[in-house]
Amino acid sequence: MDVHVADHPLINHKLTYLRDKRTDSPTFRRLADELVTLLAYEATRDVHVETIAIETPLAPTTGIRLARPKPVIVPILRAGLGMLEGMTRLLPSAQVGFLGMVRNEKTLEVSTYANRLPEDLTGRQCFIVDPMLATGHTLVMAANYLVAKGARDITAVCLIAAPEGIAHVDEALAELGVPFKLVLGTVDERLNDNGYIMPGLGDAGDRLYGMV
Ligand code: URA
Repeated sequence: MDVHVADHPLINHKLTYLRDKRTDSPTFRRLADELVTLLAYEATRDVHVETIAIETPLAPTTGIRLARPKPVIVPILRAGLGMLEGMTRLLPSAQVGFLGMVRNEKTLEVSTYANRLPEDLTGRQCFIVDPMLATGHTLVMAANYLVAKGARDITAVCLIAAPEGIAHVDEALAELGVPFKLVLGTVDERLNDNGYIMPGLGDAGDRLYGMV
């Protein structure tokens, strides 16, 4: 698995305000949006492009544009919705598929309540967005749904990850045998007993949508 941790001063600056419990929901949403835009730059480094002929006001030349088939962005509901707009801004021609997944707060088991993915993902570059990579169970399940529909090129973009989650994703996806890239804002210390990332930022969905 290819893991890229940004550890960039601008990203760390924005993460600090995102983590701060005094940050209100509108500011949290804006910061999450700005962060995904910065991370998307790295996540899309290998996006498929094609050469086209154009004319500037002065001369004919060639340029590149995003190639078909269109890439697919998959936010994992709820919290991944907070990263969707930032991704579509950079990949305006992308298609969007949705996965609604929730984890049981006691057992930490993940269940899926919505699965709206394109029918055929063969040859499509897929970008999963989910702010928190905690246990990694959600991401592994999401990757399995994509692979079952033919995806062979998957990148996940997360703002904060736990070492335990990265290790779990690495192990589980090695078994799948599909190239997988992780693009992370930063890696925190650990998971706590309730499966929350420490120091983390609390519940990303609650903070995005004003539940706290
Ligand atoms: N999901 C969250 O929103 N926060 C965590 O710390 C872990 C999972």
